[in-house]
This record gives sequence, C-alpha cells and structure tokens, in this order.
Amino acid sequence: MKYTEMTIPQLQSLKTKLNLEYAALQAKQLKLDMSRGKPGNAQLDLSMGMLSVLSTAEDLISEEGIDCRNYGVLEGLLEARRLIAELTDARPEQVFIAGNASLNLMYTMIANAWIYGVNRYTPWGLQGKPCKQGTIKFLCPVPGYDRHFKITESFGIEMINIPMPPEGPDMNLVERYVEQDPSVKGIWCVPKYSNPDGYSYSDTVVRRMACLKPAAPDFRIFWDNAYIIHHLDFEDQDHILNILEECAKAGNPDMVYEFVSTSKMVFPGNGIAALISSDANIADMKRLMASETIGYDKIMQLKHVKFFKNLAGIEAHMKKHAALLKPRFETIFSLFKELGELGIARWTTPKGGYFVSLYTMEGCAKRVVTLCKEAGVILTGAGAAYPYGKDAQDSHIRIAPTYPSSEELREACEVLILCVKLASVEKLLQE
Ligand code: PLP
Repeated sequence: MKYTEMTIPQLQSLKTKLNLEYAALQAKQLKLDMSRGKPGNAQLDLSMGMLSVLSTAEDLISEEGIDCRNYGVLEGLLEARRLIAELTDARPEQVFIAGNASLNLMYTMIANAWIYGVNRYTPWGLQGKPCKQGTIKFLCPVPGYDRHFKITESFGIEMINIPMPPEGPDMNLVERYVEQDPSVKGIWCVPKYSNPDGYSYSDTVVRRMACLKPAAPDFRIFWDNAYIIHHLDFEDQDHILNILEECAKAGNPDMVYEFVSTSKMVFPGNGIAALISSDANIADMKRLMASETIGYDKIMQLKHVKFFKNLAGIEAHMKKHAALLKPRFETIFSLFKELGELGIARWTTPKGGYFVSLYTMEGCAKRVVTLCKEAGVILTGAGAAYPYGKDAQDSHIRIAPTYPSSEELREACEVLILCVKLASVEKLLQE
C-alpha cells in the first residue's frame, strides 16, 4: 500500500515497526561510506600495469625525440595530445594537457579569467567592485557537481540554478539569461552521465547551447566531459554531439572550454587532465600558462600513451571498469524498486557515470541523511549538489555506488531504504 494512502493509525503502527527495525540496525554498529564517487579497489587494480610501462632511459624519449626526464613542452607531448584528441574527437592542436586533475584546470581557467581576462577581455575580477556578489554570474544546472559550485563560490561568483530535466538544462532559461545579461559569464555543464543524475544532453540541447548569442563576449561554456567513456554497458551507451564542432558550425568557435581527465580511468588524482578548445583559446592558454610553469608531468603522459596506446586501448580498459560497475548500479535499481512501490521516492537510472540521484518526498532528504549517519552509513550531505548547499525541496540525495564492496553496498542500501521509509512516515504524520 502506498504510504500516502494510509490512515493515521496505519502510519502510526508502521512508524513503531520501522523504529524497531532501525534500532536493530543501529545495534549492528555499521561503518559504511557511500559519500564520494571514488573507484573501488578492484577498479584501481585494473591500472596497476601502468606503473611498469616505463623502465629504461629510451622508454622516456617521446616520439618527437624529447627526453621526458627534462623540462619543457608546455602544451603536452604530441602522442598524449593525439590520444586525448582521439577520445574527444578533436585535433591534437586543440588539446592542452595540464596536470593531474581536471578540477584544478577548471579552477585555473576561472582564475585566469578573473585575473587576466578571457582572451584579453576585461578581467572578470575588475568589473565593478571585485568579488561583490552579482558582479559575475554563472548558470548552474541542478543538481550538479558540488566541487564545481565550490570553485565559483570561492570567487564570489553568483550562481543561478537552472533546472535539469533528463535531456539537459532548461535551454529556454539558459538562453534568456545568457542572451540578456552580460554579467552571466559561464555555465557549468557535465554533458554526459551528469553528476549526479547521470543524464546525457540531447542533440537539441547541445545545438542550442552552441547557438547561444551571449550578451557577454567573454561568456564561456565549461563543458566538463568527465564521464566521456564511462559507460556501464558499451552495447547500450549514450552519445552526445561534439560541442566543439557544433560551436564552430554556429560561428562560436571560442565559446567552449571542454575538459576531460583520466582520473576515473586509472588512479584518481594521478591521471592527466586536458583542456580541449579552439585554436585561439589554446593559444591564449599557452600564453598565460607560460608564466606559471615550464611544463607538466610528461612522464605521466607517456605512461598513459604506453598503457592505453590508442582509443581502442582506452575502450578495452573501460569495458573492464564497466563489468565491475554495472552490477552495482543494478543492485541499487532493484533494491530501490520497493521505494517506488510505496510511492515515497524516485531515482535516476543512468547508463554510465558514477552516480544515481535519489529523490525523496519533499522535506525528507536531510532527515534521511541524518538517520543514515546515526545508523553508521555516511552519504553525501543533503543539498550538496546545489549551489550554496541549498536544495529548496530538500529531496535530493546523491548515491555513489562505486567505492563500497558489493556486500557493503547492499547493506548500505538496506539502511538507506529503511531511513527513507522512516523519514517519509514521520513527514506524513506531521502533515
Ligand atoms: N568533474 C566531475 C563531473 C566529477 O564528477 C569529478 C569527480 O567526481 C571530477 C570532475 C574530478 O575530476 P578530476 O579528478 O580530473 O579533477
């Protein structure tokens, strides 16, 4: 029976029963963590071979004859740029390989825009009073990636929520803001298997994004393609249009910064990160970065090239990740069915990426996260996927199924399901 159809006495007796079950769970003193999207140990084991692909001095000579043990090559080795170009369907000249993590690169792009300006436009930080809220604005499809929002928040950039249905951000709203307000300088996008819903942008959304006519000439789309090849099933995957191509076709070649990294292909924090963009944007990046560094970690770049070889190598490797991850997502989908039948939650069913969104009844998410914590299961904080940590509906919970063992995942989900039931009954009784 759906909870919303129950009488008050039925709800009261259900609450008593659930409280007993909850107390029994607490007595187990569980210690489970489903809070962050980290690969599990078996996934990490898949990349151990990368540590032994280089051993001799000759191995460290690049295909252009560069000794990778020494300084230089700011934009990254040609063979590494070619590998990333293959992955992103770009030209190697459009690729700039930076350090160990894409988040750092995204921060750098905003910091550069703030201090020096985008392609020599007025620096964002000098428009009006520096750091005054509202001087610079970013659009934030929600729910989104909490660490994106932390970056913009740290600069005092005002963040505007944009609803995010399964086909991508609400483009009517995006167009209105971008085309009418010159203080809107950017939008955060995770176009494929978005964090946390796992949605992929439709062709229409990508085309409308590429055809924007921004009021600000230095408006940029931050296209974080973090899950570009992170399918759960290579036979049944989402495809998105190539934003760089679409922007070029629409006469907006410089409007997008695309980011990828190999963090979740090999070892998080020990991968390589790349910016893929127009020739003009890459030239500007090189000009600015030349005063910051002589070059990034070429040995790491070489390790990637020797380990993966080409796109086919990356695909073969990612299929092994998929084989480990798909059963975990299926566990979640099958356990959550009960919540659907009771009419107290809905959830997303992505075909890739690292997350599932669980939407409780309004006003229940914080309570569920607290109940879980008190029963030994750590979840991402409720509201974390929204700018300033504010989920107006208090209904979203991000589920990260990759890190715990399969057994732990099942146990954590059982606790979570009980907590959703309990929080829902409490709310219905309050009403
Ligand atoms: N972008 C998104 C959308 C992510 O979900 C994550 C990690 O969870 C990252 C970026 C972090 O990537 P990196 O390790 O390259 O900084």
